Amino acid sequence: MGPLQPEASRYRMKKLLLTSLLLTLALGQAQPLKGASSEESRKLRMYLRLPYQAPTSKPSTVTKPKPKPSKPKSKPKPPAAGSSTDSWPIGYPTRYYDGFKIVGGAQEFFDAVVVNLKRMEKETPIFYKMAKKKIAGRGHIHWNKGGSKAFCPLGKITLGQRDWDFHKRRGCHDWFLITMIHEFQHCNIPGDEDEGGASWAGHYYGEIMKCRKFFTNYSKRLAVKRGYSNTKWQDQLRRTKAYVNK
Ligand SMILES: [Zn+2]
Repeated sequence: MGPLQPEASRYRMKKLLLTSLLLTLALGQAQPLKGASSEESRKLRMYLRLPYQAPTSKPSTVTKPKPKPSKPKSKPKPPAAGSSTDSWPIGYPTRYYDGFKIVGGAQEFFDAVVVNLKRMEKETPIFYKMAKKKIAGRGHIHWNKGGSKAFCPLGKITLGQRDWDFHKRRGCHDWFLITMIHEFQHCNIPGDEDEGGASWAGHYYGEIMKCRKFFTNYSKRLAVKRGYSNTKWQDQLRRTKAYVNK
């Protein structure tokens, strides 16, 4: 190839300038992370929930209907014709309820989220106030493929297709509420937003909201496995109350 044409050379220069600009921006953004304290990095953590973190044993007290959670690696059962959540929009539309921004999914998704929010407000008011400050006040709730997760620094919650589809199985209706509680607690930074705290929340609030014992006990077992306890929970409840009332 011969020497570059002036046009091409100018283009290359622009490209180079752009590259260095992007690099500077990227490094500049990465800088605060390097010096972040352990408290900050704790807050920067993103919480992912494994698909179908549902119980693997049958409930001992209830024989019918029985939830049939799949193993973590199995794929969701294909939804029946006409009811597929695969076609649900992601990223739009945006709907609102009581300051909560709820993005994507079908109307049915939005309605179910609202039903649970109303229940939280009535049955677990402190927890709802926390969610109003930490999620409605900063982030949003959105529908997505895959599992549910929480990005606590921004108060963003994903309620995933896997948990939604799972709760549609017979006897598993409460799972969606438990999922919301779990992901909400991941945003409760004044309280305990770690996996132990989030799982205990599913147990504690799940019991108050009369969710199936099968699920609330399962959530408790997950929390205990992570070294969580009632003492820790009571302590974080005090901090949560102080936070919502200040
Ligand atoms: Zn979690």
